[in-house]
Amino acid sequence: MCAISKTGFHSPDHSYLCMMDIQSFHQRAEKNRVSNKKLIAKLKRAKPKDLDEHTHQFHEEAFEHIDCLQCANCCKTTSPIFYQKDIERAAAHMRMKPGDFLQKYLHMDEDGDFVVNHAPCPFLDGENYCTIYDGRPTACREYPHTNRKKVFQVLDITEKNALICPAVLEITEKLKKIYLQP
Ligand code: SF4
Ligand code: SF4
Repeated sequence: MCAISKTGFHSPDHSYLCMMDIQSFHQRAEKNRVSNKKLIAKLKRAKPKDLDEHTHQFHEEAFEHIDCLQCANCCKTTSPIFYQKDIERAAAHMRMKPGDFLQKYLHMDEDGDFVVNHAPCPFLDGENYCTIYDGRPTACREYPHTNRKKVFQVLDITEKNALICPAVLEITEKLKKIYLQP
């Protein structure tokens, strides 16, 4: 659920993550790297039944005060995967032929997935809005995947996203209080 939307899902009034805070986020994320690894390993072993419930609650709490428009770190540092449907939708949004869209903006990475040619994403504008918001790929719609069903299935991605997304870092910090207690 990347929220770089023109509809303003997250109100800037409640922003705490200003541009200058991204540096301190990175420091906090690095500091939490080892404990997050432990958390993910523990969750994989224990498979707690209430993992979705807690993660979804912490997701809601995080995005009550985190403003994606003040962050955009996902769009600035990573690329979504574009599947065929995503290419067709984004190309249609831009009134381009899918082949032309692919040739202009995408390349195949080492895993065989189509991704944008460079970061930041070429569709991110100077004010952190997604210029193809209605035609953005599914991966962007679902990012950072912490409000989906069966969070258990994306634990590895969640560990990686804690280094990219302040909301995911906050969620993992809260999950540790529940699942990493001695
Ligand atoms: S990294 Fe997380 S908080 Fe930042 S814009 Fe992306 S989804 Fe929002
Ligand atoms: S298409 Fe690019 S700018 Fe738009 S939400 Fe996805 S990563 Fe962000």
